[in-house]
Amino acid sequence: MSATLLNGKKLAEKKREEMKKEVSALREKGIVPGLAVILVGENAASKVYVRSKQKACEEIGIHSTLTEMPDTISEQELLQEIDRLNNDASIDGILVQLPLPDHISEQAVIERISPAKDVDGFHPINIGKMMTGEDTFLPCTPFGVVEMLKEANIEFEGKHVVVIGRSNIVGKPVGQLLLNENATVTYCHSRTRNLPEITKQGDILIVAVGKANFVGEEHVKPGAVVVDVGINRVDGKLCGDVDFNQVEPVASYLTPVPGGVGPMTITMLLHNTIQSAKQRG
Ligand code: NDP
Repeated sequence: MSATLLNGKKLAEKKREEMKKEVSALREKGIVPGLAVILVGENAASKVYVRSKQKACEEIGIHSTLTEMPDTISEQELLQEIDRLNNDASIDGILVQLPLPDHISEQAVIERISPAKDVDGFHPINIGKMMTGEDTFLPCTPFGVVEMLKEANIEFEGKHVVVIGRSNIVGKPVGQLLLNENATVTYCHSRTRNLPEITKQGDILIVAVGKANFVGEEHVKPGAVVVDVGINRVDGKLCGDVDFNQVEPVASYLTPVPGGVGPMTITMLLHNTIQSAKQRG
């Protein structure tokens, strides 16, 4: 057996084409969706992420602004900029690129963004709504994972989902979204004992560890659906948290890196920004 690859790049393109139409319909009504991005400091990876988010906005007709701040700014100055954007009627979504310098509290920054403009889905109010299953902005990477699995008609109800990783931006919310879809969810993390014994029970295995090629054949139940969220660079080459060569012959479905989950994350950010613009008024 060899796994069917879940093509996130293709799905992202399809969704962005649909979004282009949605944006032009909004523009005809005089609403230009707006995303404000704040970048603090000179982190090279953050700059690349911000640039690709802005490019994606441009391609589908979303207006985007960029506030660049030096890493010497105070938390107060950053909060003031967020207040300004919270009050700017032309802005539907606010994104503060993480990580932030150590002297600035990420949590304070996230909590200052109006929940109505929190298109990253990180505000505690939106996280709470996600937990109770209310309509809200969902965090982009987990949202993208669920969309990819749905596109492939993978069923969740009654399935055992095992998530490796419990970060606030990936591991925890992806498990919660699949719990909302009636899966049975197990979380694993760095203190988990006998990891392969647990991960081998997963009908769906979601890997968000941040370690190149961490998951091998011994972690995967034959026929499982394996989602690789990891983005790692080894000798300048991108690779996931899953050892592709080992797992591809065992899994039924697998997301490749690159071209799997990655392109879906920005796509769901665009989706959230458009949804926010629709709620204007
Ligand atoms: P974090 O570093 O925040 O979390 C990693 C998680 O893995 C932690 O919960 C940690 O456990 C767990 N872990 C670490 N080592 C082990 C181990 N030996 N056994 C079991 N669990 C372990 O990472 P993120 O969640 O932010 O990101 C995960 C990966 O996804 C990264 O490669 C990142 O680059 C990528 N990513 C990709 C995105 C995309 O768009 N495709 C978006 C965001 C992230 P503990 O909590 O105990 O420390």
